[in-house]
Amino acid sequence: MIDWKSHPAFDGHEDVVPVGDETLGFAGFVAIHSTALGPAAGGCRIWTYPNGAEDALTDALRLSRGMTYKNAMADLPLGGGKAVLYKMGADRSACFEQFGAQVEAIGGRYITAEDVGATVADMKAIARRTSYVAGIPKEAGQAGGDPSPMTSLGVFLSIKALLGGSVHGRTIAVQGVGAVGYGLCKLLADEGAKLIIADVNQANLERGKALGAQVADVASIHAAKADLFSPCALGAGLNAQTIPQLGAPIICGAANNQLATEEDGARLQARGVIYAPDYVVNAGGIINVSAEYLGESEAAVRARVEAIAPRLMHILAAAKAQGVLPHQAADHIVREKIAAAKGKA
Ligand code: NAD
Repeated sequence: MIDWKSHPAFDGHEDVVPVGDETLGFAGFVAIHSTALGPAAGGCRIWTYPNGAEDALTDALRLSRGMTYKNAMADLPLGGGKAVLYKMGADRSACFEQFGAQVEAIGGRYITAEDVGATVADMKAIARRTSYVAGIPKEAGQAGGDPSPMTSLGVFLSIKALLGGSVHGRTIAVQGVGAVGYGLCKLLADEGAKLIIADVNQANLERGKALGAQVADVASIHAAKADLFSPCALGAGLNAQTIPQLGAPIICGAANNQLATEEDGARLQARGVIYAPDYVVNAGGIINVSAEYLGESEAAVRARVEAIAPRLMHILAAAKAQGVLPHQAADHIVREKIAAAKGKA
């Protein structure tokens, strides 16, 4: 028995289900943070950790909580959960089939999909044993499929709103031009923005350069003089070292967990930098993936993604009016939604 209720990352989680199979050689956890708004949805991460099960449990608890917040903020009828597999057997397909059977046994309280380390083939193997899975290639007319274009669109529309309705002639510094960052750069370039980009991956950088972007050093892209800085690479990029060096007055990007610590929100505020909370603006991907599960149309997905920018502006106004930080205002809205749903239950 694992004692997850006294774990430092425990946050009122509803359940933690150990998954795996000794013979097949895989192991992990499904953490269910909340089902107050609907089944707990969140991808399956496959990762190797220095401290194996212990680290995997910490990640599962933290990530599942994050999914509750992201799904609730996007107004999806879904709660938050996450699977983390820290050991994978040699017969990967058999492992995922068995994992699918274990997801099925959770009885619909958890819905899985791809996350870091997982592939579409893995989801197909899971789907042989359960219907509680998304992230499988869509068929004609269905919504779903690759989440990145909708993530890029949600971030783009948010940037546009933050810059007063137009990006024409404005300079945007984009950190990371991968699936989301490149899609974002295309949308920005199409509407006449000037781009500064950085990426550790040369091929991705070349694609961005072809859009007319200027290239900055990976170590200093955050300091580039721009109207807005968009972190679209890894998390924790806004920290005690980078915040004093920031070259733009507004931050809005796709990367998850951009603030390295809780104090970094206050550091940004002290510098007069406006921060668009990451989980508010990067919800396009989960909206697209969940549409597949919820059976929603492409038009419904687009409408949900188009609601992101007005929601962001509302949160920023509320934060200002209440004298709190933007991410605190966002968290407060989510907690109210969950409390209201629990009250109705
Ligand atoms: P990706 O792997 O396709 O792109 C990330 C890019 O960042 C890559 O080109 C990589 O080379 C680059 N990179 C890595 N380290 C860097 C560094 N130090 N400096 C500059 N560039 C660096 O991933 P993605 O799907 O585009 O996701 C980008 C971010 O957005 C991630 O943090 C992801 O968790 C988050 N996110 C993605 C989605 C989605 O729909 N894909 C949804 C929500 C959030």
